[in-house]
Amino acid sequence: MNKFEVLGLGDAIIKAVNDMGFESPSEVQEKAIPILLNEDTDIVALAQTGTGKTAAFGFPLIEKIDSSSRITQGLILSPTRELCLQITNELKNYSKFIPGLHTVAIYGGASITDQAKQIKRGAQIIVATPGRMQDMINRKLVDISNIGYCVLDEADEMLNMGFYEDINSILSHTPDEKSTWLFSATMPKEVSTIAKRFMHNPVEITVGHKNTGSKNVSHEYYVVNSRDRYAALKRLADANPDIFSVIFCRTKRDTQKVAENLIEDGYNAAALHGDLSQNQRDLVMKSFRNRQIQMLVATDVAARGIDVDDVTHVINYQLPDEIETYTHRSGRTGRAGKSGVSMVIVSKSEVRKIKSVERIIKKSFEKKEIPSGEEICQVQLFHLANDIRKSEINHEIDSYLPSINEVLEEFSKEELIKKFFSVEFSRFHNYYKKSRDLNAVNEGGGNYDNNGSTRYFINVGEKDGFDWMTLKDFLKDALGIGSDSLSRVDVKESFSFFNTNTEHQELVLGIFEDFKMEGRKVNVEISKDSGRRGGRRRRDGDGGFKGKRRSDGFKPRGKKRFDNKDDRGDGGNRRRDRDRRKRSDRR
Ligand code: ADP
Ligand code: MG
Repeated sequence: MNKFEVLGLGDAIIKAVNDMGFESPSEVQEKAIPILLNEDTDIVALAQTGTGKTAAFGFPLIEKIDSSSRITQGLILSPTRELCLQITNELKNYSKFIPGLHTVAIYGGASITDQAKQIKRGAQIIVATPGRMQDMINRKLVDISNIGYCVLDEADEMLNMGFYEDINSILSHTPDEKSTWLFSATMPKEVSTIAKRFMHNPVEITVGHKNTGSKNVSHEYYVVNSRDRYAALKRLADANPDIFSVIFCRTKRDTQKVAENLIEDGYNAAALHGDLSQNQRDLVMKSFRNRQIQMLVATDVAARGIDVDDVTHVINYQLPDEIETYTHRSGRTGRAGKSGVSMVIVSKSEVRKIKSVERIIKKSFEKKEIPSGEEICQVQLFHLANDIRKSEINHEIDSYLPSINEVLEEFSKEELIKKFFSVEFSRFHNYYKKSRDLNAVNEGGGNYDNNGSTRYFINVGEKDGFDWMTLKDFLKDALGIGSDSLSRVDVKESFSFFNTNTEHQELVLGIFEDFKMEGRKVNVEISKDSGRRGGRRRRDGDGGFKGKRRSDGFKPRGKKRFDNKDDRGDGGNRRRDRDRRKRSDRR
């Protein structure tokens, strides 16, 4: 028996579940579905974002609906238009093998007449934002006087957004005998108030700790001087070439500005905030979903609707005013069982706030260092090599090959590789070679004694199954040294960095001179960027700032970085390319 059948779901939904590829129920689904199927009860279910709450209420709701009747039987209230549409789509998917079941979305910013028409045709389930729902009730375009089920999804968010009055008034139009199902990531006082006020002896289920973030998310902070915030952001992006991220700013103005700067600097970025029209926001979200945008810069309010899986990084460009908001921000990554990283850029005076956040999320942060230019160059170089290895050959080129071969005839494979990498990479290297250390100097002496420490590069990484803890263990074993002597273990996709006390340098190089892991040679080299602030770093260049950098034609970041031709062709082409790219980035 399929694991969903055990929960008591019928054939039509099981078929849809198989189609969607869900293999086993998530915890909240496992807990909520049997209760909701078997009992007519109110429920309060607390589970973090990305834990599958939609199906937890969606499956039982669909089972309970009588699809032969056209009466509206279920109402789902959700905070934003985005979510509203997403829930509607999900429900349509779940019920695709149930003929006659109709789910209609009701939200602001679109024609109310069209929505009314859809309702009139018969909608057993309505998914609505509170504002528009209220509006339609006032105009008597909907009838919810017979519903049996009312779902309050993301109740905390709805209350955050000031929908209390609307919810209150909407519920007054529903029958007393209905069941109310409340789903929320967090349980602030306001949510308990709603529960007390509108629900009768609700069953309460909790998945994970109340108020904590997803366990798949790791939390990091970086201390920089305030004026280096933007430069630090770019370094973080450059050190993670496959980044797919949401960047949070405090104000609309900062959001707009950071996004504009990123676009100027050649990143695939866009802004999402309340001053954009609904249409503009929809376009931005569409490009983000399609991965045309890698860095979405957003305000907290605008980001509430973002429910995109696979976000690799959340970057807190600034900490939120309300520390509680951090949970919502970091919940944008680590969804659907994937892991994610939430990074916070802070100035020295804000470091103490990290402690408050830790208390709320009940997890600790790791203090990390903004990567140096040297480190980023290494990351990018290997990323490029891996991209080349993975890319499929385009046979359109075949007909030109003979003449291309002629041009390159005199070079060996080694020479060709060197030349190819030089073409693609020099820009990057030139940009970063004069970069300075962006980490704010820790006056208290800090945890890092970087004098007397050596940094190494090692050619194993995540794809070999390592994370920083397992790599540290591996190194401890291989070298036979204590973990005190190992620091700053930083694991990337296909390689990593670590530090040891300089006294161990010979040992390290000796052991890894001829070291094999599962038949493969493990290679360790001293990273050129061996100190942190030990005086060997150049502090003169400004590396991190735009403007200066743009004069050398370098476009850091963005998928197109290595395949655009702007550094190879003539200046005219270069400008045209760049303009074209800018235009399309802004769209
Ligand atoms: P939440 O509402 O808790 O934030 P969602 O309901 O939006 O989470 O689900 C997050 C993602 O996980 C969605 O892409 C959804 O399709 C997927 N998902 C939900 N349940 C399962 C499951 N049992 N197995 C695999 N994926 C699931
Ligand atoms: Mg949800």
